[in-house]
Amino acid sequence: MAVLLLALLPIPPKLSKSSKADQHQRQINADILRDVFELIFAPLQDPAHDGVPIDCADGKVRRCFPILAAWIADHMENVALHGIKSNVCPRCEVPAVELGTNMKVYPVRDYAIYHHYDYENWIGETDHADITPESLGIRLGQNVFYGLNRVSPSDLHKPDMLHTVYLGLFKHMMDWIQGFLKKHGRLEAFDEVWKALPPYPGFLVPKKAYREVTQWQGKEMRNLGRCVLGVLAVALRQPGSAQLIPFKRALGCVRALVDFNMMAQYRSHTAETITYMEDYLDTFHKMKDIFLEFRVTKRIRAKIDEQRRELRHDRPKTRERIAPSKRRRMRDAEREEETERRMDLIFCESHFNFIKMHLLSHFCDHIRQFGNIAMYSTEFGELAHKTQIKAGWRQSNKNDTSRQIVQSYSGQHGIRMRLLNLQSLRCCGADLSPDVVLQLYTTSTTTAPDIRRRMLKGRWDNVCNMANFRPVLGISIQIICRGLIRYSRHNLPPERRLPEDPEILESLPVELLKQLEIPVLVFQETEIYDIHRARCMGAQL
Ligand SMILES: [Zn+2]
Repeated sequence: MAVLLLALLPIPPKLSKSSKADQHQRQINADILRDVFELIFAPLQDPAHDGVPIDCADGKVRRCFPILAAWIADHMENVALHGIKSNVCPRCEVPAVELGTNMKVYPVRDYAIYHHYDYENWIGETDHADITPESLGIRLGQNVFYGLNRVSPSDLHKPDMLHTVYLGLFKHMMDWIQGFLKKHGRLEAFDEVWKALPPYPGFLVPKKAYREVTQWQGKEMRNLGRCVLGVLAVALRQPGSAQLIPFKRALGCVRALVDFNMMAQYRSHTAETITYMEDYLDTFHKMKDIFLEFRVTKRIRAKIDEQRRELRHDRPKTRERIAPSKRRRMRDAEREEETERRMDLIFCESHFNFIKMHLLSHFCDHIRQFGNIAMYSTEFGELAHKTQIKAGWRQSNKNDTSRQIVQSYSGQHGIRMRLLNLQSLRCCGADLSPDVVLQLYTTSTTTAPDIRRRMLKGRWDNVCNMANFRPVLGISIQIICRGLIRYSRHNLPPERRLPEDPEILESLPVELLKQLEIPVLVFQETEIYDIHRARCMGAQL
């Protein structure tokens, strides 16, 4: 995916909700944001309305209408750009109390009508007195995408695997699982299996138990999705008779979410794969109730405390002497009553109505309409931060940095495009001046690859060449040299062949020889390979 830095948006300071001065400042911020976007989108307006002739790949020139097609952002950024409330879907009019269901029958948001309501409200001649911004979950007049030619703002919203699944539902799910394991006394077993996971190419082995890690990144949560079901299944083995059904439901729920996540990563879909995704999501919603008691928010916790205080206050205080056994029975009964009332309150008040739960229901429709989801992930934007913003910041003199960051990257990008054009002209036999040709030979149009800074794990401190490596393998040096020379003669091109002098072979660095690179086809690809490295682990190859 090509990512080009166009502008840096202003970020206003955080404001409190109550103060009137802050409300006024919030409106000013929204107006400034809208003005900035108007400036950025201005060059798109005329071409989108009238069309422009564009050279197509088949050599023909066609009249095209380039429009803004997608906006990749996390939920809170979408909230600011679409002018909606934080627990509202930017795509459909789902009520807040139904965010945790999977009903899919809500009308698509029509921001043009909202703008019409806003206008009627402003001139004071409204025919829709019953429709208020609160009922629609919007802040009127704050949608920056309104007024773009041929663009429906509700279609700009894209599903985001990073924030919705990895940093959203997976994190919630792990909290529920931790609560569930604690309730059934399986937390230690889970931690033991978690820390004993064996290494595998492309899999990051966790060094600490899940609950010991304070912050999780998207990449780590994606890694977690690959192993959590297996670890949970091992931790929940051999259930008691009362645990059989809850364990089965918990595993079913986690499995459905993990399967949904796996299918959502496909780069191409058929009607069958989309049906699978819908089925997994349905199963997840049907089974998620097993974790309901672990969805205890601060508000519910406060209610539980209050209920407990009331119960203790209302109990009659007897002053007469009671036998210890009777007192114990009374305490047990009181404790049981407290637990029962607490669970009733939790089941009554807890819910799954949060926005990330609802956003999953748009994944399948989005695939049908616009194709796979992986290409819309915010991971691309986050990665581009490093080369486009952080590098520009470092190179700047920290004075009016926004301008310098934007200019620095666009300058480099422009030169690279120019060089690529000249290169392609030269390949077609165009008559270029000798200076340009010389420049093309000396300048590279591709970015230098990142140098791997990670040290190989399991390296022995006293092993640096083949002679030191021999005792590790337990094979004589003659056998190693013979094997290496045979491999080199039969498999390596002449320029990369190994020297055949045993003394030189013995002094070769061990890193050169102890890895075997196995190309494995990337999932759903036919020509792209991942290199899996098989490494020498101690005395066993
Ligand atoms: Zn929605």
